[in-house]
Amino acid sequence: MNLNELIDYDRQHIWHPYTSTTHPLPVYPVERAAGCSIYLKDGRELVDGMSSWWAAVHGYNHPALNAAAEAQLKKMSHVMFGGLTHQPAVELARKLVELTPAALQKVFFCDSGSVAVEVAMKMAMQFWASQAPAKTKFATIRSGYHGDTWNAMSVCDPVTGMHHVFKGSLPVHYFADQPKTAFDAPWDAADLESLAAIVRRHRDELAAVILEPVVQGAGGMWFYSPDYLKGVRALCDQYDVLLIADEIATGFGRTGKLFACEHAAVAPDIMCLGKAITGGYMSFAATLATDRVADGISNGHPGVFMHGPTFMGNPLACAVANASIDLLLKSDWPSAVASIERQLMEGLKPCQGLPGVKEVRCLGAIGVVELTEPVEMAAIQKQFVDRGVWVRPFGTRVYLMPPFIISQPELAKLCRAVCEVVASL
Ligand code: PMP
Repeated sequence: MNLNELIDYDRQHIWHPYTSTTHPLPVYPVERAAGCSIYLKDGRELVDGMSSWWAAVHGYNHPALNAAAEAQLKKMSHVMFGGLTHQPAVELARKLVELTPAALQKVFFCDSGSVAVEVAMKMAMQFWASQAPAKTKFATIRSGYHGDTWNAMSVCDPVTGMHHVFKGSLPVHYFADQPKTAFDAPWDAADLESLAAIVRRHRDELAAVILEPVVQGAGGMWFYSPDYLKGVRALCDQYDVLLIADEIATGFGRTGKLFACEHAAVAPDIMCLGKAITGGYMSFAATLATDRVADGISNGHPGVFMHGPTFMGNPLACAVANASIDLLLKSDWPSAVASIERQLMEGLKPCQGLPGVKEVRCLGAIGVVELTEPVEMAAIQKQFVDRGVWVRPFGTRVYLMPPFIISQPELAKLCRAVCEVVASL
């Protein structure tokens, strides 16, 4: 297939994320990727500013991850997890149990982030089904994002999460105001009042509070105060409601801590991990739970956790995840992330004060330029590609979250491109 045939066939037959088939947005065919570069089929090279949606923390085509996949491939790419187990899964479980807060002792392997959220919500429901009273509702905060499957969608922000499209069929949960206190601003306890009121009023029907700890991703790229998270933990303890931390985007170092819950020294009852767990090599995720949750499920009816997908515990994904976590822990990732943060702050500073710019903010290896008006995707995308960078804004957010291995010149190129493009809007 030549380049044009490929693009034509794609336009006619393939759905891309959040797109129309009748008016599809342009797509750029990729030939290969390595390090922090994405090589287009037309010969152009783009510096990657997205880590393929938080995932590719080590960059692309990494020899250690390739070697792990190749070695595992020669043994088995997959076996069913019902009745069988294997070294890569056990090794990975041990790593996750050791790295996450001590209370999280049980690991459920999932196929994707959205499934990890489904699993977390099912765990919370099944836990409470084993208790009296059984509790089936969830509370969350506005501007959150937890995935595109049914229950995950039901706890996404009602506006950006498109609840109106599925109105009448989605389970209805409780939405508290988005925390307003920024990550490093002085804590204002009034911020917690909206969620506290919901938890107090609905304590007898709330199975869990679910949220993205400290960094809200696709729902708004907002960094809120760790004190809020501390307050949520205290509320959940006071009213006996479980806390689900969706660390799918924040996990594995992105925010400057290995897990964002660490900013608040908070341990959730259930934690979802995904994206960077395999260094962005393949779809894989995990949901961890405390013994209390697992024992509750196991001592209730039907005494087993009701989930078990075909590709659960996929050995190939587990092997790559093990290699990716080893690689991360062997590297000085805290320094790498801290220096990315410094460079993002410096490099995106020129956007501050530009017309149409509401705010510039950075945390860890995440830099956000929030605009006052939504971008026109196709046009802005082309402007970035023409400047040799891969940056994909959404709505009013133009943001960078590069691989941790990015070099200073590469990151400087990304920041320059963002400043130029934003200035030209
Ligand atoms: N939770 C969060 C916080 C996410 O950022 C995402 C993905 N953007 C998901 C859940 C869903 O993960 P996936 O796309 O792998 O289903």
